[in-house]
Amino acid sequence: MMKPPVFKIKEVTQSELLKAYKPSEILGYCAHCGNHDSVWSCPPHRFDPAEFIEGYSFAYVVSGAVSMCGFEEQADAVIHYYEMRSKINQALLAFETTVPGGVSLYAGHCDACKPCSRTQGEECVYPDLCRYSLESLGLDVEMLIETHFGESLQWVAGKMPKQMLVVPALLSPVEVDIPSFIQALETGVVGAA
Ligand code: SF4
Repeated sequence: MMKPPVFKIKEVTQSELLKAYKPSEILGYCAHCGNHDSVWSCPPHRFDPAEFIEGYSFAYVVSGAVSMCGFEEQADAVIHYYEMRSKINQALLAFETTVPGGVSLYAGHCDACKPCSRTQGEECVYPDLCRYSLESLGLDVEMLIETHFGESLQWVAGKMPKQMLVVPALLSPVEVDIPSFIQALETGVVGAA
């Protein structure tokens, strides 16, 4: 049986979060992604991401370390990573309901529908499920991880890392109890197994 992810969470104030706001650089990367203008959780947005971020006093940035050990095939490890990412996003969405005024930021893009209705030029089918990501708001995730966790998302090309990080977040107008948040993610991921 695979080990469950190991979670760390850091409280980041709005002003600290805005230090990682680099829209021209980060949204420039998004412009070259296949999801750009094709998924409602991804850019271009109909709102100003900076104004969106400024609506919340705190960001709770999650580092979810997913073990990549125990797989003979690299492809299986990658599938495992995406399964864990999906479960972490679901657990985050469930915890969001306990935080008044809070909103989740998924790791990765919303994948509730395949394909997203945006590809047909139609409105989002499940706005209750759609959440943006840190990247899609123009935030530098690498910088956040290095600054607040002292970790790196980098890995050696061609070599399977021992672990990969899943990095979602929760924006909140109020302070959140971090041990309760971690417990909710742990329970949610195991419960979804
Ligand atoms: S819920 Fe469906 S329609 Fe809405 S953003 Fe997600 S994938 Fe697209």
